[in-house]
Amino acid sequence: MSVPVFSMSEYDFKAALKKTKLAIIPVGSLEQHGNHLPVSTDSLIAEYIARTVAEKVNAFVLPVISYGVSFEHKPMFNVSLRNSTLSTMICDACVSLSENRVKEIIILNCHHGNMGALQYVAQELHGRLPKDVRVHTIHYWHLMNSEFDHAGEVETSLVLAIAPELVRMDRAMPNSKKLSKLKAAYNTNVPGSFPKITGNGVWGDPRKATVAKGEKWIKEITTGLLKTISELDLNKILIYAYIALTCRYNKCR
Ligand SMILES: [Zn+2]
Repeated sequence: MSVPVFSMSEYDFKAALKKTKLAIIPVGSLEQHGNHLPVSTDSLIAEYIARTVAEKVNAFVLPVISYGVSFEHKPMFNVSLRNSTLSTMICDACVSLSENRVKEIIILNCHHGNMGALQYVAQELHGRLPKDVRVHTIHYWHLMNSEFDHAGEVETSLVLAIAPELVRMDRAMPNSKKLSKLKAAYNTNVPGSFPKITGNGVWGDPRKATVAKGEKWIKEITTGLLKTISELDLNKILIYAYIALTCRYNKCR
């Protein structure tokens, strides 16, 4: 049972709180993803993964934070928050959730540029939360075996699987500048660095993207996230309860 916080009522909240104390905050960005993907790409992925996993582990899903730290895309389109703004926003949301009796919070990050801000959330929250409330930050590409890209094969496949109506494959083009160094040799945290490195703001080749690849990667990410949640101690109980219920349901059919 997923509980989308955006559309629930106070009544729904109280009823759901009897069944779960777990909440997922999806975090995305609003930035260029080439000429073929929407600027909301990271937010779309974050929300979709959060909802899919919440359905399985019985969790609240907060409205996606659809602005992130995207200065690296200047002068291409980006609406950016400073690191301190994003960090403050997320910390305040966690404190509020704890006051609403939520005990376990997962911050699901789907934008690389947010990593710096999210790195310090645990430190910022230290002493501000009751001892029985825990916050975990998870970056979705850590749940994948494939290489991370930007509007390339991976992200384009994911959006093709989630919202194909928003993808313009006829405009899909790979990076227009040759990437000649190892990934680690590029510093994409510098404002304006992304267009300088890639030429056209794309990292990878979106022409290789397919719906089937997107579905496969979504499965890989959601399975990885479920496994991670199961290793967060408290929620083992929730996952096992889900598996037990699913088995029972399938037998009944
Ligand atoms: Zn992205």
